[in-house]
Amino acid sequence: MGFQDILEEIHSKLRDAPHKGVVASYIPELGKVSIKNLGICLLTLDQEEYGVGEFQTPFSIQSISKVLSLTLALNLIGTEVWKRVDVEPSGDPFNFLSLLELERGIPRNPLINAGAIVISDILYSNLKNPKEDFLNFVRELANDDTIDYNLDVANSEKKTGFRNVAAANLLKSFNNIQNNVDDVLDFYFHQCSLTMSCSQLNKTFFMFANSGKSIAGKTYLNPSQVKRMNALMITCGFYDEAGEFAFEVGLPGKSGVGGGIVAVHPGKYSIATWAPGLNVKGNSLLGMQALEMFTTKTGLSIF
Ligand code: GLU
Repeated sequence: MGFQDILEEIHSKLRDAPHKGVVASYIPELGKVSIKNLGICLLTLDQEEYGVGEFQTPFSIQSISKVLSLTLALNLIGTEVWKRVDVEPSGDPFNFLSLLELERGIPRNPLINAGAIVISDILYSNLKNPKEDFLNFVRELANDDTIDYNLDVANSEKKTGFRNVAAANLLKSFNNIQNNVDDVLDFYFHQCSLTMSCSQLNKTFFMFANSGKSIAGKTYLNPSQVKRMNALMITCGFYDEAGEFAFEVGLPGKSGVGGGIVAVHPGKYSIATWAPGLNVKGNSLLGMQALEMFTTKTGLSIF
């Protein structure tokens, strides 16, 4: 069976699933998306693409952007990043605050909200035009100039992102935010509002499967940095369900509350899914099932 047939079989099994999870609505703009969307896209290392369903429809990538902001921070200041944020799984929801108090303002890892807000602060200090420069970086990684922020989503989160405001202020009280809190949050909300399709996500994440070299052939991370990024994704990429994702799917990856998941098999492929209904842990319900079916059917997990 070829990859296209496998994706089609998975899609036809899941598209009419009675339980699709719940679309996130704590950011009101995200709640407007239809739960019926289901896209799956595979990009192999030799740049063959296979896709089914809504794999070319752009959606809000939300926390998936945290991998990209960390990549840029590593590009800019290297291992200095690890003085400001740890690399341990949190085992807690993405917006949990009590650990931050307990660990005196050093977030558990860069893929939870508090960690990503510190990374945003680092980028804010090191980029001339933070929003523009970050967007250009992502466009360059994906080799696609059409990728953009969704300002309705960014503004919607700005109005309701109370827990992120609390986290940023707590970080500031521990001197782990150097810039103005509102400026850093505005930048963070813009990153989360990045809009991409499954196809574009695969192209952007291609370098994590390809030893740090992007789809256009430019090297952004050295092999040791790629190893670390993939280690972080597998241990911290799925909120407090990273263990379950490794157990069921067996790939490094990252999810977002917009219902997207992107995962990579180093040396082999990148795969992305979009199904906006989330499970109770905040991960795409059908996306996780689709990826579990894919690695089980093909035997292509890293374990
Ligand atoms: N912008 C979202 C927030 O900060 C991202 C959450 C996510 O996708 O995990 O709440």
